[in-house]
Amino acid sequence: MPPFEPPGQPTSPAAGDATPDLVFLATCDLVGLTRGRAVPFADHESVLRGGVGWVPADLAVTAGGHIVDDNAFGATGDLRLVADPGTATDVPADGDAPAVRLYLADQAHLDGTPWSCCPRDALRSALSDLRERAGLRLVASFEHEFVLQGLPASAPMSFARLRLAEPFGSDLVRLLDLAGLEPENWLPEYGEGQYEVTTRPTDALRAADRAVLLRELVRDLARRRGLRATFAPILTAAGTGNGVHIHLSLTDLDGTPVLHDPDRPGGLSEIGARFSAGIVTHARALTGWTAPSPTSFLRLAPHRWSAGGAYIGERNREALLRICPTTPLSRTPVADQLNLEYRAADATANPWLGLAALVRAGLHGIRHYEPARVWPETHSGPGDLAPLPGDTGEALDALESDPVAASWFDPTLLATHLAVRRQDLSDLEVLKPDEACRRMADVY
Ligand code: GLU
Ligand code: MG
Repeated sequence: MPPFEPPGQPTSPAAGDATPDLVFLATCDLVGLTRGRAVPFADHESVLRGGVGWVPADLAVTAGGHIVDDNAFGATGDLRLVADPGTATDVPADGDAPAVRLYLADQAHLDGTPWSCCPRDALRSALSDLRERAGLRLVASFEHEFVLQGLPASAPMSFARLRLAEPFGSDLVRLLDLAGLEPENWLPEYGEGQYEVTTRPTDALRAADRAVLLRELVRDLARRRGLRATFAPILTAAGTGNGVHIHLSLTDLDGTPVLHDPDRPGGLSEIGARFSAGIVTHARALTGWTAPSPTSFLRLAPHRWSAGGAYIGERNREALLRICPTTPLSRTPVADQLNLEYRAADATANPWLGLAALVRAGLHGIRHYEPARVWPETHSGPGDLAPLPGDTGEALDALESDPVAASWFDPTLLATHLAVRRQDLSDLEVLKPDEACRRMADVY
């Protein structure tokens, strides 16, 4: 395994007026929840050098909150959570809530070498392989939908819905800006109480870091404003889904975009179409990483504008991979604008692992597959010929039985993921779908 890259510079200088009392070192686990440990701010410098203690079996905790029965790590072993200084995020004091500084951390052995099951390092390794084997860098951004519970009813996409969320909305945009997350859009969405927030594209590791941080900053601010934010995939079986759409573009090592070719279908270059072929071909297994929770597939069904099938479609919101629009109004070259949107993810997935799986699939496509067929805007796609799994159990089985996908990560990491997710499935399968949705809304 490669050593850690040199730590970056803090992106978010101490922003609040008060020095925080606590520093929290955080990781995101296999069920997509942010967990970690706090230390007094006075120990900040020493903790940045030495990290804090952590336990391998912490990776085997289910969304339901217990360690899975066949936990491969047992009760032994010790790790360190090693903060990446470049992820410093200050949440300023607010009313009764004191300031806190968050760091995202890698999970390392006691001697500091990377742990082969660390989700963040899995993304770092995938990106390093993409650079070394294909000469490419990935630029990404995560677009999050969530529901604010506790607000009166309002019309989809309306100004009224925007204003009902105040002062939460304006406070959120300010907080994200202060934290260096580069907020781009804040919008009232379609579903009841649903909103969406997007951040600007950036290098892929930072983009996934932002996804981890954004979910916590949203939930924390909502709590402080007397609301509850939930990113659960769907709140009732018949409701509107909360998607996490992952925007992807590729550049060469000099930063020149490589996705665009005006002479090819959809304006997508050959390398872009090969990268897409990897994702489309391994889509069923990929959803085992990106839509892995018991209610993920209530959202991920045809005609819900989530992802209705495993294909790439030009400006098509039913496609697994949407070729996003470009516009001359932006006055930037088309090649700089063009990006692919992977739509089959939700916030129960770990952003580092979801993105790492997409990189691994795309890299495999670049090296081994013919360019994917692009379904034009005038065509609705391949219909039943390219189905996604029908439910989460099928997605997990597809992940386990796809030999290419099964080779992407450390076998213990994959086995633990499958065990944890199957445990959550069996815990909730006795419930009616709406009750399962409620349980997931409480957790996420
Ligand atoms: N709510 C949809 C989803 O579950 C996305 C709708 C949109 O295109 O913004 O993915
Ligand atoms: Mg949306």
